[in-house]
Amino acid sequence: MARRLGMRVLLTRGSMNLSQRDGGLPPDSVVQDEDTILADSERVVSRYHQRGEDAMVQIALAPCSPFSVTTSLMRKTAELAHRLEVRLHTHLAETEDENRFCEEMYRCRPLDYLEQCGWLNSRTWLAHGIHFTAEEMVRLGRAGTTISHCACSNQVLASGCCPVCEMEEAGVGIGLGVDGSASNDGSNLMQEVRAAFLVQRARYGVNRVSHIDALRWATQGSATCVGRPELGEIAVGKAADLALFKLDELRFSGRGDPLAALVLCGAHRADRVMVGGRWTVVDGAIPGLDVADLIRRHSATARAMHAG
Ligand SMILES: [Zn+2]
Repeated sequence: MARRLGMRVLLTRGSMNLSQRDGGLPPDSVVQDEDTILADSERVVSRYHQRGEDAMVQIALAPCSPFSVTTSLMRKTAELAHRLEVRLHTHLAETEDENRFCEEMYRCRPLDYLEQCGWLNSRTWLAHGIHFTAEEMVRLGRAGTTISHCACSNQVLASGCCPVCEMEEAGVGIGLGVDGSASNDGSNLMQEVRAAFLVQRARYGVNRVSHIDALRWATQGSATCVGRPELGEIAVGKAADLALFKLDELRFSGRGDPLAALVLCGAHRADRVMVGGRWTVVDGAIPGLDVADLIRRHSATARAMHAG
């Protein structure tokens, strides 16, 4: 589907093998065993992962959280990612509950556990990163591990707020993410820029966080998180991935600076999108995609899941 739409994607092979029966978080019905997960991870990487600056499809290995997989699978996933030269991803330091769970289960804090499993390095990017201490932020910065700040999810679930300014001062790269679809209702990155700008400005004040910071996290910062420095910036030699917005709606008519207007007035839909020099969205629509049919099928699937 991504290929048909001309999208550039980094898909993660998720995993869970520690169910409630074994003291983990997920229900028994959704876990797989370690051998199945590792074999399938290797299969999807060899089948789909592209390398190089023009890569359109990449795969990362991503246990759901360190508390839904065994220590053995955490370690072996890191080793496999290293051998296959792909990135590692998980969700960490999202709640205080997670800290307590980790102390009880492993007698250490989540970042110590991550390090013990061979994950504290520049191959890893983490979603959330809310509940780290100052000393832990320094360790993250030194290791080159980056954080995907999920502003909407963190507010909806009242998880807390990622300390982005302290993180950046400690040398930790910050990108933006929408979290999993179970924790974000619209998964709209442009709305995420606005949410990140608002929540972080409320936290740090008008002199430390601007709309430019929020846009920088979403573009260059996120490119750093996924290990693609050739993306996230409009410059000679970089990939031509562009999102273009029009300012002809009533919400923008009183605007001054156009970039500030996108963030402050709340842009939510690009008029044109270019990926690798090819137009993939034209006049606010994806050519050749039957959106009405997609909505019907998505709604039916969602209803079936609710009923299940
Ligand atoms: Zn998450």
